[in-house]
Amino acid sequence: MNLRVQLEGAGGARGIAVGRARVLYPTRFEVDREPLAPDEVDAEVARFLHALDSAREELAALRRRLRGSLTREIGDFIEAHALILDDPEFIDGVTDRIRSGLQRASAALDAQRTALAAAFDAIDDPYLRSRREDLEQVVARVFAAFRRGGGAMPRPDAGAAGTVLVCESLSPADLDWWHEHGLVAIVATQGSVYSHSAILARGLRVPMVIGCGAALDAVRDGDTLLVDADAGRVTVSPDAIDLRRLREHQRAASRQERRRAQLKSQATRTRDGATIGLHANAEQTEQIARARRVGADGIGLFRTEFLYLKPGEAPGEDEQFKAYRDAVMAMAGKPVTLRTLDLGADKPGAGALGVGPEPNPALGLRGVRWSLARRSHFMVQLRAMLRASAYGPVRILVPMVTAVEEIVQVSDLVAGARRQLQREGLAVAEQVPLGAMIEVPAAVVVASEIAHACDFLALGSNDLVQYTLAADRNNAAVASTYDPLHPAVLRLIALTVESARRARRPLTLCGELAGSADLLPLLLALGLDAFSMHPGAILEARERLLGLSRKALRARGRRLLEAASRDEVLERVRGLAEG
Ligand code: PEP
Ligand code: MG
Repeated sequence: MNLRVQLEGAGGARGIAVGRARVLYPTRFEVDREPLAPDEVDAEVARFLHALDSAREELAALRRRLRGSLTREIGDFIEAHALILDDPEFIDGVTDRIRSGLQRASAALDAQRTALAAAFDAIDDPYLRSRREDLEQVVARVFAAFRRGGGAMPRPDAGAAGTVLVCESLSPADLDWWHEHGLVAIVATQGSVYSHSAILARGLRVPMVIGCGAALDAVRDGDTLLVDADAGRVTVSPDAIDLRRLREHQRAASRQERRRAQLKSQATRTRDGATIGLHANAEQTEQIARARRVGADGIGLFRTEFLYLKPGEAPGEDEQFKAYRDAVMAMAGKPVTLRTLDLGADKPGAGALGVGPEPNPALGLRGVRWSLARRSHFMVQLRAMLRASAYGPVRILVPMVTAVEEIVQVSDLVAGARRQLQREGLAVAEQVPLGAMIEVPAAVVVASEIAHACDFLALGSNDLVQYTLAADRNNAAVASTYDPLHPAVLRLIALTVESARRARRPLTLCGELAGSADLLPLLLALGLDAFSMHPGAILEARERLLGLSRKALRARGRRLLEAASRDEVLERVRGLAEG
């Protein structure tokens, strides 16, 4: 049994939770290619076999812990993995390479994995080919057992506690799946606050600690973990004092929630009487109900990618229409901004849509580029969105716009889709405003022209920061370069505000910056007055805004924009907060 130990990381999605660890080992590993001396061979084979036993026992322990519907769903993959672990071709292949090739176990395992993976790839059946993933996970599990010295059997788990996933990183689709299967928290060794997984975790209220480098080595399947994402800390085998802290935190959080709940039906006004728009971002239909519960002014960004992340064919018009219509009806008359698909080659599901693989997915065929290149798919989405507009106010938002021609083309396609639907006798609202996301620097520079070609703008700071600073939003190694408070970013935001104002088009900030209550004084100073954020952040934002004066903050915007460095920005932001 693991003793109490604390691991440090950073908060990716707030909250505290306790649960049982489920470790997902990465599929990369360090391989020792130094050849073996002949007298080391027997010990190396023994190490390999011991690691295999460990991996088998881990799977058996996992199988014992399964309850209810999980038994069937996860049970299938456990069976598949157990079969690979017992497969003579797999075991003999590795031991032969150790004995005859004098390879170390890690190198032998790696070589056998490559050989078997090639055999999987050559199979003509897409289902069987997809089972290659099982092979990768099994090999990763054996590797992890090596790293721990081949021992370390996991303890059987008697409780039915929630699952804390411990992983390198997690795709939004996997997160979604685990969320439906008892997930209470995530601990990732990599990741960034701005990744789509972290955004989704915040939306689903799943606490997430990122950048917790030691987790994969220190945590075993079945360990009890206390995940404090507010402090960016993970405690393995928490003691009574830790658990008391958890209960105190839960009590304080529910007091805070009760206090903020009183603001649900209150208008959002600053101290000097300015009305501020507070909309919700949603990645899933279930977040819409939550947006309504916290009194959001509408859905400012409905990311439609979730419909496309499931395996199989792209969703048809009716499936999409129903999802959009349900969102519109759930918001009961408040506007819902449906964003057209923004799927890069790095996302699961992209392959089915004919995207990638690409060397640089962030710079590739994503957003409006994909939509204009695959018009038949795009028309399906536009038709579904327009049909949903018959049930309440809908706005259509186009991601990754870099040039005015793109929004003009989309506008023509929307008009064409509307004519088609009307010919078919289907109802469409008279007004369906079309908007462009301003999230690449080129779009900021031509924001006036783009604004004149559409009805509203939405500022996507997540991507704007990435493209302005040439720093991947998902890459922890460049997290310090990816700086939303870089003076260049602030100036680009101010330019966009000015272009929208001159063109008399509404502008909403919908990147993650909007969800950080501490930055609201800065954002008001830059001239913004409408925000879209994950629903969990809305009440805190409203509470904060009640105490701020928009007029006084705006008067200090110019000085903020003169800051030459991050330090100067921070100093001036602190000044804003102090009044
Ligand atoms: C953004 O880029 O800021 C944004 C809101 O879009 P996404 O996070 O979905 O790329
Ligand atoms: Mg974006």
